[in-house]
Amino acid sequence: MQTITLTTPIYELPNVSRLHVEKLEILGVHNVGQLLVHLPHRHEWIRAQSGLGDLEVGVIGSAIGEITATKLSGYGRKKRFQAVLMDETGRLELVFFNQAYLAKKLHVGMHLHVQGKPTRFGPGLQMNSPKYSIVPFDEAQNLNMDQEDEYRPVYPASEGITSEQIRTIVRTVLDQACALLEDHLSEPYRKERELPTLGQAYRMMHAPESEADVASARRRLAYDELLMLQLGVHMKRAHLRRTLKAPPLARTPEINERILARMPFALTPAQQRVVDEISRDLALETPTNRLVQGDVGSGKTVVALDAMLLAIAHGHQGALMAPTELLAEQHYLSITEMLKGSSVRVELLTGSMPSSDREQVIEQIASGDCDLVIGTHALVSESVAFHSLAVAVIDEQHRFGVEQRAKLRVKGGQSAMSNCDGETPHVIVMTATPIPRTIGLTIFGDLDISTIDQLPPGRTPVITKHVTPEKRSTVYHWVNEKIKGGDQVFIVVPAIEPGGKEGAVRDLRSLKAQLEGGELHNCHIAALHGRLKRETREHIMHRFRAGKIDCLIATTVIEVGVDVPNATVMVIEDADRFGLAQLHQLRGRVGRGEKTSVCVLIGNPKTEDGIARLKAMVETNSGFDLSEKDLEIRGSGDVFGTRQSGTPPFKVADPLKEFELLEMARRDAGHWIGESPNLDRPEDALARRRLLKAHGQWLGLGDVG
Ligand code: ADP
Ligand code: MG
Repeated sequence: MQTITLTTPIYELPNVSRLHVEKLEILGVHNVGQLLVHLPHRHEWIRAQSGLGDLEVGVIGSAIGEITATKLSGYGRKKRFQAVLMDETGRLELVFFNQAYLAKKLHVGMHLHVQGKPTRFGPGLQMNSPKYSIVPFDEAQNLNMDQEDEYRPVYPASEGITSEQIRTIVRTVLDQACALLEDHLSEPYRKERELPTLGQAYRMMHAPESEADVASARRRLAYDELLMLQLGVHMKRAHLRRTLKAPPLARTPEINERILARMPFALTPAQQRVVDEISRDLALETPTNRLVQGDVGSGKTVVALDAMLLAIAHGHQGALMAPTELLAEQHYLSITEMLKGSSVRVELLTGSMPSSDREQVIEQIASGDCDLVIGTHALVSESVAFHSLAVAVIDEQHRFGVEQRAKLRVKGGQSAMSNCDGETPHVIVMTATPIPRTIGLTIFGDLDISTIDQLPPGRTPVITKHVTPEKRSTVYHWVNEKIKGGDQVFIVVPAIEPGGKEGAVRDLRSLKAQLEGGELHNCHIAALHGRLKRETREHIMHRFRAGKIDCLIATTVIEVGVDVPNATVMVIEDADRFGLAQLHQLRGRVGRGEKTSVCVLIGNPKTEDGIARLKAMVETNSGFDLSEKDLEIRGSGDVFGTRQSGTPPFKVADPLKEFELLEMARRDAGHWIGESPNLDRPEDALARRRLLKAHGQWLGLGDVG
């Protein structure tokens, strides 16, 4: 056989047809190396040939027997051929659908070798459309019974090439290719962790001899994936630690007193703990990079405000960035209210402000005439440069669009908000979509995470109901009663205007007209959505807060930040159209006062996921439980946001299930980077090269070292 390398194109391999080359290329396999990493997604256990009586339900097996009876039944296209197979040990029924020609091919007295997964059939077993071959009589006499169990890899295949064909092609290069693989882990390192070599791992993955082989191979490959990511994250952090400096912000008793005096309420113990954690970070010169997670309504705003006031107390600036204009406006209003009478100068900066106003604010930001600025992603536009930004807070980070998130990450996890003098601010990121701990560790490595795991006192849990659309009218009659009793109501719809598209959804315009002319004819209804002008929006929110509007029909613009304690009813139309996190956020708009609140989900879910989401909403009020549920429903790939954000996906590792492996990789990566921060020792060269190839780009590691 010709000598091959890992870069040998598959079209140069002998015995691979042109068609298969084409099909493999569609699967992203162009050369031998890529063929090696085209891993089987599972393994089938195929039992060695046995007697018919030894076959087991649900386990692929094979056996040889004699046909003792046949039968063709059914009519037209629905013909069914049955045969009975027997040997000394037992009996097996075979069934084939739509293969009437078999009646002419298989006869009583023939010996047949079959392979398939038996199911229970009456007192015996049955195989449905098994693979079969006719065994000549003389061969049937001396059966080859010493064949062994096989763990057969099943490959991601596509039209035009089957898993079995891929298996055959892989087999032809496997030994040679695996021998060529260099390992980036040294022998002692591997021994200590009981890991096979890379070559062994790939061999065992493609041609295992036992279940233990598959497990060992998976463990090595999963470990590598986790290790590489952790090395990348640690390397990046080490680099930032060395090169970036932020202003240290000590919390003196005097400053502490001044800040506390501004808080309209006593912090919950959970808030206090997070404030303390943040304060410890901020006191250092190393730029803070902390994620604060807390369920909807857990009181993240004051925690952010606290950190920004600390910056201002030290003569620097603070900035708070929100994902929507409405939320920025809400924050601006509530924060100016809290700071009334203080010397802190607060400004708002959004994209829809008249340009003269905007320019003025940008100037104040640059000159230091403004201490605290609240805004949208307008804050990271090129024209904005801060005089001396020390604390940057990104609120509801998960709500920022893909592009904006990429932009926020520009400087490798550090804030894209920048200072005139190039100093780095401390960054605090807030999210109400709690990240399960495992995922958090995986993505962020040793990014610090604080959790506000407690709601402020005096909240009553929201009652959640799911109703089908036929009950809509009953729901709105009940809504009318609630409004008569003095409550206020949110109604959320997926669209602003009638779409006319297939599978059309409720829209704001039609529903408003319908309710005004029907169930809610005596109520004051207003519409709120993202296309309204800022003044109009503010005016509507102001009137709603003042109780002049009974019912707000809105799109998901109200998802975050809206805080009106007297609103006790949330109706969500076409609820199954929304994601679980989004539904939970919307529900978080009610249940903010002492009165009992109700959330009604109207929907007729068509998919299993949709049904599962609504069920989860009815069953729990906890954002943490929901995010775990969400993970179950969607699978971890989606939570990583792999398709959107470019976070590297794992092919083998499942950090949710392999928590110990993840911990091990994390520890190992920490030590490794501790000893060799840039991985520039000769023995690290291979690991470094593979790391940069896998994660260099998205981690922005190009400039490291
Ligand atoms: P979120 O975490 O969803 O951003 P907010 O910061 O908007 O939550 O807080 C929700 C509501 O709870 C606000 O009205 C806020 O004033 C109130 N709140 C926050 N902390 C406390 C507290 N410790 N005691 C009483 N009310 C609080
Ligand atoms: Mg908030």
